Amino acid sequence: MCGIVAYTGFRQAVPLLLEGLKRLEYRGYDSAGLAVISEGGKHFCVYKQAGKVSALARALETNGISARVGIAHTRWATHGIPNDINAHPHLSYDGEIVIVHNGIIENYASLRQRLEEKGISCRSDTDTEVLVNWIAWYRQQHPQKPWREILPEAFRAVEGTFGIAMLVRSMPDVVILVRRFSPLLIGIGQGEYIAASDATAIIPYTRRVIHLEEDEVAILSTSRTDPEIFSLREKQRTPQVEYIEWDLATIERGGYPHYMLKEIFEQPQAIRDCMRGRIRQEPLEVRLGGISSVMDRILAARRLTLLGCGTSWHAALVGEYLIEQLARVPVEVEYASEFRYRNPVITPEDVIIGISQSGETADTLGALRMAKERGALVLGITNVVGSSIPRETHAGIYIHAGPEIGVASTKAFTAQLTALSLFALHLGASRYSIDRNLHDTLIENLIEMPDLVNETIHSLNPQVQALAEKFASVSNVLYLGRGYNFPVALEGALKLKEISYIHAEGYPAAEMKHGPIALIDEGMPVIVIALRDSLYEKVIGNIQEVRSRGGWVIAIATTGDKEICHYAQEVLYVPEVPEPLSPMLTVLPMQLLAYYTAVIRGCDVDQPRNLAKSVTVE
Ligand code: GLU
Repeated sequence: MCGIVAYTGFRQAVPLLLEGLKRLEYRGYDSAGLAVISEGGKHFCVYKQAGKVSALARALETNGISARVGIAHTRWATHGIPNDINAHPHLSYDGEIVIVHNGIIENYASLRQRLEEKGISCRSDTDTEVLVNWIAWYRQQHPQKPWREILPEAFRAVEGTFGIAMLVRSMPDVVILVRRFSPLLIGIGQGEYIAASDATAIIPYTRRVIHLEEDEVAILSTSRTDPEIFSLREKQRTPQVEYIEWDLATIERGGYPHYMLKEIFEQPQAIRDCMRGRIRQEPLEVRLGGISSVMDRILAARRLTLLGCGTSWHAALVGEYLIEQLARVPVEVEYASEFRYRNPVITPEDVIIGISQSGETADTLGALRMAKERGALVLGITNVVGSSIPRETHAGIYIHAGPEIGVASTKAFTAQLTALSLFALHLGASRYSIDRNLHDTLIENLIEMPDLVNETIHSLNPQVQALAEKFASVSNVLYLGRGYNFPVALEGALKLKEISYIHAEGYPAAEMKHGPIALIDEGMPVIVIALRDSLYEKVIGNIQEVRSRGGWVIAIATTGDKEICHYAQEVLYVPEVPEPLSPMLTVLPMQLLAYYTAVIRGCDVDQPRNLAKSVTVE
């Protein structure tokens, strides 16, 4: 996830590229950079630095460089911390090509090794520099071949996802784009092309665009009226020019009215990105490169402690169930803020794992620091590459959910669950504590998960929207779940509280009779997760207790379960998956319900009162 802008035409490229980057900054803001070919076309000028686009713009204010061709990038780091060297653009070792990249080159390590064997090394830690060196090396081997042949051949060895814009020194009016998975659009103006990761950077100049498709290359040159587009594979097509009618503000959130809704709908992608490159086939297995160096210590641990705050703490609770079931190691889950101030017993045999979307959560960071000082192995599960937690821990797992801007966490939660499932499976397999069939079934279900999540969000969306109309006027809601779905009940209640300001409580369903049942009277809404799993009959019993006191039961149930309709007044169906993975689906209607209820009540969904995205205070 990052923002790319590229230009070739008659305007001054530097201000246009900076303007485009500012519009794309929501896609990542770890570093910003641009490369232009100076007028006269002799050499590249590359400017890049860690930090936001505004800092780059300030640094270039007095520069006065005149150029009509260039590429630019705002980074969301995946490989290598956000610093000046890792910032894009990246120049090839021979100085002939400069590139910006959105995505992940999955086999960068083996490509890097192949290049090193030829004496070609990288300056940065990024997968992107490996790619540009690989293309440059391939081209050097085939100096006579046109780009139309070089690119399909060079990319045959490249695995992963990429949206790429590149400049070639010998073709000073040309921008080349390549796309696999990461989006790229080409804006077609009169005598100019503006390409970008999304339309916000393009529509100030033109509304005529071509969407580059999977595995396509575009060569943009002002000496041609049309872009030259061809495929990296056999299949070719005739590209269609489309017309964009949306206004800028709508496009900036990808057409969604709020970032939260956009991020809810991005969950299939976040889960896919979290798994990318981590599942090997034949035999099916999970690989987690980020923790491989400390695996011996993890395997020697007598217990694991998971720490988090808010939504990350709920993910940790699901993690506890996963790890204990699949890896048979005792797990404790703690609020980071409690753990750090209660003088816990920590020994060098302990493994402490902090979960935080931002990687900056002050309490989680503080608790990890304390545990590290006392000799424990400390790990992080975070989203933001190069943030404090990954820098200060011994090792960790990035969830790769892409930037989360809505204050109420959604896609980071499901990506955290994905990372924890991968971790539990990997640990279970390494400890030989998991049955091979279960191991394979869970991995197969994880692979299907992005599609199931996508289906579920789309099928429930209209129903939940209608339900929210009734919810907007309630003042209390009870959320109930058992087993793996008890933490989801907590998460559902938290979502509703934080953005709609309706009081909500999450409870283990069986605990209700020890207190909260006193709250239930005529019409009190109670959301119950009642899947067809090992606890189904027990949950039905809990539902009956609510109904007999006049409660209004909304059940989240397994698709195909008709029996549940006898007990609940409203049923929201989610597809059947093995129990340990079900929280990734049951949480979806809760996120949507919180969102639509807040919108109907007129609340500021993306910036709820009194809250902040990254809690860097204790
Ligand atoms: N994998 C590249 C990096 O870490 C690109 C990340 C992005 O999409 O911004 O630098």
